[in-house]
Amino acid sequence: MPLPLTDRLALLRDAFPADVSGTVPLWVNGEWRKGTPGEEFACVDPTLGETLVPVASSTSDDIGAAVEAAKRAQRAWWDLDGQDRARVLRGIADGIRANAKALGTLDTLDAGRPIRDTVARDTERAARLFEFFAGTTDRLRGAFIPVQPGRSNTIEYEPIGIVGAITPWNYPLTNAAGKIAPALATGNAVILKPAEDSPLSALMLAWVAHRAGLPAGLLNVLNGPGPRVGDAMVRHPDIGKITFTGSTSVGRTIGALAGAELKSVTLELGGKTGFMVFADADLERAADALVFSAFNNAGQTCTAGSRLLVEERVAGDFLKLVSARIERIRIGDPLDPETQLGPAISSRHREQVLARMAEAEKAGLVPLATSCPQLPGHGFFLAPTVYVDVDPKLAVAQEEIFGPLVTVSTFRDEDEAIAIANGTPYGLATTAWTSDIFRARRISRRAQTGIVWLNTAHSLHPGSPYGGYKQSGLGLEMGEEAIRQHMRIKTVWSEDGPWQSPWASAPA
Ligand code: NDP
Repeated sequence: MPLPLTDRLALLRDAFPADVSGTVPLWVNGEWRKGTPGEEFACVDPTLGETLVPVASSTSDDIGAAVEAAKRAQRAWWDLDGQDRARVLRGIADGIRANAKALGTLDTLDAGRPIRDTVARDTERAARLFEFFAGTTDRLRGAFIPVQPGRSNTIEYEPIGIVGAITPWNYPLTNAAGKIAPALATGNAVILKPAEDSPLSALMLAWVAHRAGLPAGLLNVLNGPGPRVGDAMVRHPDIGKITFTGSTSVGRTIGALAGAELKSVTLELGGKTGFMVFADADLERAADALVFSAFNNAGQTCTAGSRLLVEERVAGDFLKLVSARIERIRIGDPLDPETQLGPAISSRHREQVLARMAEAEKAGLVPLATSCPQLPGHGFFLAPTVYVDVDPKLAVAQEEIFGPLVTVSTFRDEDEAIAIANGTPYGLATTAWTSDIFRARRISRRAQTGIVWLNTAHSLHPGSPYGGYKQSGLGLEMGEEAIRQHMRIKTVWSEDGPWQSPWASAPA
């Protein structure tokens, strides 16, 4: 039985750092900001399918207040010694660790992500993002360019000013941290709009950051619907950069608007990871990796291994291993530390995934017979589903579905495998399992994706740049590469002596 709603609400009230007996407020200029009466949305617990609390939805006044606060705070933040900014960022990392239980509980309650992942893994990852970028603040070097004798030219990096960050609901805390940390490290202020489906942990992160010494105004959290609040951020003339993670379709809209405004943009979009398994692979480990990759977070991961490509001669054996592992997945209340697979994020999303499954079955696909554990009779749970013998050109094998659904296609040789893996509009990640190191190298060269995982799955590090090719995005997050994407370049010229006009020596 899941924990009842009253107990879940009690957990939420204990975890959240402000009074949530009414509407959950916004965070603007270093303090809680009450929303406007009548402008709220429901924060729903996907495990029960019940409303937890109402959350304030930002109005244009709130956006204006956040922009003004960010503008006021940003200049002084950039004028600090980088080492002082680093100290604050390290303090935020410590604050995340000190509040890990509360932050993780909030993501488990409103996003349905298992507590075994939120409390330990997500919070540690968020903390390390701040630590990595803290280590960059006094390394933001420009350059001296050798130009004509008597003249000097330097390249200086400056922050963009205000960065607007728009995040999805699947990994609420780490998505937020991945956007905030590089922006603050490079001297920017941030206005963050989390997804309405998971509004809580970002608010708490802002509170944690403030308590760690982040000056008021540098991080503001505005909840509310993307087409209104997110759109207003993209259009706002004082927000100089948008960093967005979400679907390819919304990414395109944002990219087009940002283009019209000539605004810098980073887009981390959808994916359809080809997960190749060759006959020479360690099939047991590959099966562990596939099941984790595809079903972790209920398949709601942009790099989920949702497209299994397996060498024909081992397909039968490999699917037996996959099937046995699916049967052992522990599905249930994500607050239970044993649970591995929680619910889908929302009723709407569950319906969309079910509709895609129905379409696939109408097209003649048959799910692999597994005795998948019984689904709870409440909330938005979805059963792990594997379709075999799938034509890789079918929509279900081409489009991102973002649920616990895997399509299986077979290949005869390496060329065919790589052609199928590359044969989608996306280009986020490729995974390959093989014991042939030369083949692994060839695959990594030929993969048309921003990330390649060889005999591993979902390895990430704040120091490793993250981004997609093709329809999976534009720009990079994390790594040194993220730093430049949050800065502008200014070239500065000066003379070693009095300037001589070229006209002064012009022929008469
Ligand atoms: P959406 O694109 O629907 O939404 C993402 C965010 O954008 C939300 O905060 C949403 O707000 C907001 N938004 C929606 N419409 C607009 C708009 N017109 N203008 C500005 N902002 C808007 O994605 P999901 O939340 O459904 O997330 C799932 C998607 O995210 C998947 O496609 C997945 O692949 C992708 N993703 C990519 C990752 C990557 O790094 N490449 C990582 C994680 C996820 P609201 O929902 O509140 O309306």
